[in-house]
Amino acid sequence: MTPTSPLDAIARASRLACSACLLGVRCRYDGATRTAPAPLLDALLRRPIVPLPQALERALLDLFDDARCLNAGHALHFGQIASPFLARGVLPICPELFGGLGCPRPAADFIGGDGEALTQSRARLVDRLGQDVSEAFARGARVALDLIQTNGATCAPLKEGSPSCGVHRVQCDGVKIQGRGVAAAILGRAGIETFSEEDIVPPRA
Ligand code: SF4
Repeated sequence: MTPTSPLDAIARASRLACSACLLGVRCRYDGATRTAPAPLLDALLRRPIVPLPQALERALLDLFDDARCLNAGHALHFGQIASPFLARGVLPICPELFGGLGCPRPAADFIGGDGEALTQSRARLVDRLGQDVSEAFARGARVALDLIQTNGATCAPLKEGSPSCGVHRVQCDGVKIQGRGVAAAILGRAGIETFSEEDIVPPRA
């Protein structure tokens, strides 16, 4: 579901989730981050400070700690990076780490369709080593959804183009197609309002 105004959705949500790489966490397949454009970060950091329950903060730290992030010389710095967002009710999620895929990890592309198709067993995700990682992606998306629903988050800015988080576009059979990542599909179907950073700052033509 795409809201009329993503910035309004961010402002009105009592809690929300956000792709961790957009917040600056180095959790991408290549061990890098994809920090969000300034208007999205500003909107998240303008939210009022309402500290998360300690148990939830601990659960999130554990999820990222357990994620086998072996980031070539870089510590994940999750706690430090996430702290100002957690204090404003923003839950960082990384479905690929939650699915046990580790970091860095081989990139993966869809075969046969997007994340919606994958959840209906009409498509697969295969990584650059030729391994079928469909179940790991689906498992990580379910972990993210459980975290979101358990904690009352209602919307989620997600990283465009990702096989997990892509909201409008993914890579399939070697080309970019209109479609959703696995987590975006599963969250959207559960009624979570999803949008991408490109809905706030469109890419240059
Ligand atoms: S799964 Fe989502 S949050 Fe994690 S690195 Fe990929 S785009 Fe970012």
